[in-house]
Amino acid sequence: MFRKVLIANRGEIAVRVTRTLQEMGIAAVAVYSDMDAESPHVLGADEAYSLGGNTPAESYLRVDKLMAIAKSAGVDAVHPGYGFLSENAAFATACQENGITFIGPTPDVISAMGDKIIAKKTMEEAGVPVVPGWTGDVSQIEEIRQVADEIGYPVLVKAAAGGGGKGMRLVQEPAQLVSALEGAAREAEKAFGDGRIFLEKYITRPRHIEFQIFGDTHGNVVHLFERECSIQRRHQKIIEESPAPGLSPEVREAMGKAAVAAAKAIGYTNAGTVEFIVDDQNRFYFLEVNTRLQVEHPITELVIRQDLVRAQLTVAMGHPLPFTQRDIVQDGHAIECRIYAEDPDNQFLPSTGTLQLYREPHGPGIRVDSGVRQGSAVTIHYDPMLSKLIVWAKDRTAALAKMVWALKHYPILGVTTNTAFLRDILLHEAFVQGDIDTHFLERYPAASLRQPAQQQDLALAMAAVALERPIGMGQALSQGSDNLAVIQDPWVTAGAWRG
Ligand code: ADP
Ligand code: ADP
Ligand code: MG
Repeated sequence: MFRKVLIANRGEIAVRVTRTLQEMGIAAVAVYSDMDAESPHVLGADEAYSLGGNTPAESYLRVDKLMAIAKSAGVDAVHPGYGFLSENAAFATACQENGITFIGPTPDVISAMGDKIIAKKTMEEAGVPVVPGWTGDVSQIEEIRQVADEIGYPVLVKAAAGGGGKGMRLVQEPAQLVSALEGAAREAEKAFGDGRIFLEKYITRPRHIEFQIFGDTHGNVVHLFERECSIQRRHQKIIEESPAPGLSPEVREAMGKAAVAAAKAIGYTNAGTVEFIVDDQNRFYFLEVNTRLQVEHPITELVIRQDLVRAQLTVAMGHPLPFTQRDIVQDGHAIECRIYAEDPDNQFLPSTGTLQLYREPHGPGIRVDSGVRQGSAVTIHYDPMLSKLIVWAKDRTAALAKMVWALKHYPILGVTTNTAFLRDILLHEAFVQGDIDTHFLERYPAASLRQPAQQQDLALAMAAVALERPIGMGQALSQGSDNLAVIQDPWVTAGAWRG
């Protein structure tokens, strides 16, 4: 049994992990950079220690400082969250060497899956369908040319060490192939310190559907069903849902089996995600394994009614998984929206500032995982994701309606946010029909999604806001449409809003 666990992270995920630790009677140890000294993840912890500095390199990425704190605080284990050091095999090894349990898979699995070429070859050998392509020697240019001709253009050049949506290059025609391979290798060397690249067929209009997997140290492996993550900007997800709309039971079962086979092939322990892309013929292909808790894990939690962080801790303590495959059933529908301080009308440019007004929506089936509060500063140093708004309802239609309501009752002032944009997506006919793929937002950019009726609402809201609450409005009005569209409801129906 763990008594004390250090969370090597910040923001909403540190808050979320703290909650489960405390529920289990385990002390949560927070770490923080200088500007995070007063953040919710620090205030809610049982103990907190300063890392100093502000940039990730000075703070949350400092393995030496984290290890020193872990040892002096006497923690049993470290939870890495996502991002930062969560998929860093050297960090997992450092924990091991200091006699501290790393809550995640083993270092060798982390490093094998962090290499997209090794991962793909391993999965191919295990019989998991992979995207057709070339993972061999890149100097064999004639062979590569032949493979590309066979699978057909466009093709995609990817970096073995790529991640976070970076390190991919599209090749439209044979004449561009050689220069793309050379350019991609150069870029990968510069960005990841690893110039190895591979080639795969570019799947047009794919859906991104991933499976949550879980393994323990007793040889049990299960999948916890899927998450549909096709609504992406810059290859990064912003809306996720479970179950995936329109996925047939047969394809779901085949994908679940492939995900479990993938996990077994690498001796996977703890929580992980097998990502697939699905083409318009419902053929699915392995993309990669993320060896950590995923940002979008709450939608799985709501649909299967399990606490994934609790399961992570159980497995890390050496106990068997708290559920078998037969215990896991999908019930109802969950959607997550990532609430970002960014401007959808200006290439999703991050927005910084102080949260002058910040009110989270409440209600049955509404969950907000956040790492900020009113007065928090949003800076350039960290990811501009403020929170995750997650809803559960008995079916997709009800979940959509609940999410639209919740987004409307989530007033945020002081930074530009994407809440109105998210609402526009959810209300769009194609989204409502489940007609989605990874190019949805290229097809329907922010301006095209905006409903004329909403623009009228907006004018009305601006007038109401100006009348009812003159203080701070100069600022609100200068923020552009996003905030105003969100605040309209609580402000217009003034009774519901207490300032
Ligand atoms: P998810 O599928 O959970 O959204 P992502 O792959 O988008 O996961 O990454 C989750 C977090 O990890 C994000 O904060 C992202 O910026 C970060 N991340 C992922 N890969 C890298 C990388 N190679 N370099 C830096 N950050 C990364
Ligand atoms: P990362 O480590 O950056 O998350 P992935 O391999 O998971 O890299 O790819 C990220 C996204 O890029 C996918 O969600 C998908 O939208 C797109 N993508 C990746 N490979 C392909 C492909 N072969 N064809 C079409 N789109 C792809
Ligand atoms: Mg990915």
